[in-house]
Amino acid sequence: MKFFIATKNAHKIVEISRILTPMGFEVLSEKDLKEPLPEIEETGTTFEENAILKAAAAHKATGLPAIADDSGICIDYLNGAPGIFSARFAGEHGDDAANNEKVLTLLKGVPYEKRTAHYVAAIACVMADGETFTVRGECHGHIAEMMSGSNGFGYDPMFISEIGCLGEVSAEEKDKISHRARALTKLKAELEKRLER
Ligand code: IMP
Repeated sequence: MKFFIATKNAHKIVEISRILTPMGFEVLSEKDLKEPLPEIEETGTTFEENAILKAAAAHKATGLPAIADDSGICIDYLNGAPGIFSARFAGEHGDDAANNEKVLTLLKGVPYEKRTAHYVAAIACVMADGETFTVRGECHGHIAEMMSGSNGFGYDPMFISEIGCLGEVSAEEKDKISHRARALTKLKAELEKRLER
């Protein structure tokens, strides 16, 4: 079965493909299309709503079953911010360095026990017949006082997970505990249920 992954983020395509390809799914993304997808405004108020908006638009445009994810980091000391605004926390979409600097500045002097945070990944799936469902994975940890390592992306160099700073662990190690991997494990189970029908 073919699946369209509705994200421009190359890191996410790789992470999602690493899990779906061994299940026998052929993974397609925007680079496989003749025309780019229309730009989708993320007007939802939750990760799930935004993931559905993106997956539904991709399904409509391609006619293929489609998967989209919406993810971000929720920092308790900042009342859950940046949340759904994680990619554009410092203003410009996807400016990881500026986003990280903003978080470190806002948390300056905050003790470790109050620097708790969690990543969220909501994945929406629109099946060939239009049936739509979402799954969610979370990864809990702390925000470090400084960045370390250059692995991963986004907030990883300052996120201390149960296996250490995600800027320092390998992709394989991150895959075992990441929010996206946890959501994908649930997605796999949901897809298997539907394939058995
Ligand atoms: P999205 O593309 O709208 O889902 O935005 C996700 C944003 O959340 C990214 O730009 C990153 O800033 C952050 N993010 C999501 N997942 C991760 C991750 O696994 N590591 C680091 N940052 C992440």
